[in-house]
Amino acid sequence: MNIETIAIHGGNHIDTKTKAVVQPIVMATTFERDADGGFSSGYQYSRSANPNRDALEKVLAQLEQGVEAAAFSSGNAAGMAVFQSLEPGSHIIAPDDMYHGLRNQLKQLFAGILEFDFIDVNNEETLRSHIKANTRVIWVETPSNPLLKITNIKKVVAIAREHNIKVVCDNTFATPVCQQPLTLGADLVMHSTTKYFGGHSDLMGGALITAEKTDWWEKIRNVQTMGGAIPSPMDCYYLVRSIKTLPYRVKGHVNNALLLAAFLENHPRVEQVMYPGLTSHPQQRIVKEQMTLPGAMMSFTLKGGEEEAKKVINSLKIFTQATSLGGVESLIEHRASVEGPDTKTPFNLLRVSVGLEHIDDLIADLEQAMA
Ligand SMILES: *Cc1c(COP(=O)(O)O)cnc(C)c1O
Repeated sequence: MNIETIAIHGGNHIDTKTKAVVQPIVMATTFERDADGGFSSGYQYSRSANPNRDALEKVLAQLEQGVEAAAFSSGNAAGMAVFQSLEPGSHIIAPDDMYHGLRNQLKQLFAGILEFDFIDVNNEETLRSHIKANTRVIWVETPSNPLLKITNIKKVVAIAREHNIKVVCDNTFATPVCQQPLTLGADLVMHSTTKYFGGHSDLMGGALITAEKTDWWEKIRNVQTMGGAIPSPMDCYYLVRSIKTLPYRVKGHVNNALLLAAFLENHPRVEQVMYPGLTSHPQQRIVKEQMTLPGAMMSFTLKGGEEEAKKVINSLKIFTQATSLGGVESLIEHRASVEGPDTKTPFNLLRVSVGLEHIDDLIADLEQAMA
């Protein structure tokens, strides 16, 4: 099946009793036992499993071409489940521009429990020189945030395989509509479903999807169900609902992004545009190899400095100044001030999540703000 069809039918099933076309929401936290003490429905207690979470996990697994998925209450909870599944003393290699929330998690919550190095994962020599006997995971995030750098997933996987190391790919920016890391050899995909999957900036969620059912995956499941950072039945329902339009939303986001990037690149006040869909992106060859679409996240730097960038942001009328991404509404943010004092992000950089408004209105808004 194609991704548009999976998105609609992968998680939904017609209720056998009422024949409702849309799966009902089961709010119950507990389920009645059989006379012999069994659980013939397959459900016992909602932290372990719930029909709406099952539906969500089913469609997520299919969208990424994996065998199983685990849904969490946020992207950070999903990332944390990976770290908690590792033996104490394990070493993780992560990108130097890893999503700051997960980087801070490692540095602040896992200090003394796990070892980690933040490096340029796409540089083969650097990567090889950081592999140690206790390295268990190489973390990949591509396109990266906020510089939209690309990591060659296949190349990282090949190096990891030589040392029996697992590769986890944070696929939040790309979504499976643009890139499917498991088909490129990654072992695990991570998502913040708060972003494009939810798509309307109104729910928090996260997910892990595995290529294989391994002992490691069982540990991750245990972290999910014993740790209990699970999404509510309502949130699972809303996600299954939003996912039905994910492929068409993402295609719309990408179409707008391509036109917006071209506009920005030709604007005299813009210094540089970072977007994988531009021929000027320095890693075009890898983009073409591993992405079917270039996504809809971009960053640009303005001539002048922080002052200029903030002035533009404050003059915009349609773009909302806010963090996060993947919703129908266009968002723009001064990334350096979101990331805090240890940021390496240029102070004249603005990050844009291109929404689904009409492109002419988005361009007109930027045009007046930069005039
Ligand atoms: C938002 C985000 C996360 C964290 O997800 P939450 O749902 O906010 O916890 C992780 N990685 C990337 C790339 C993100 O954009």
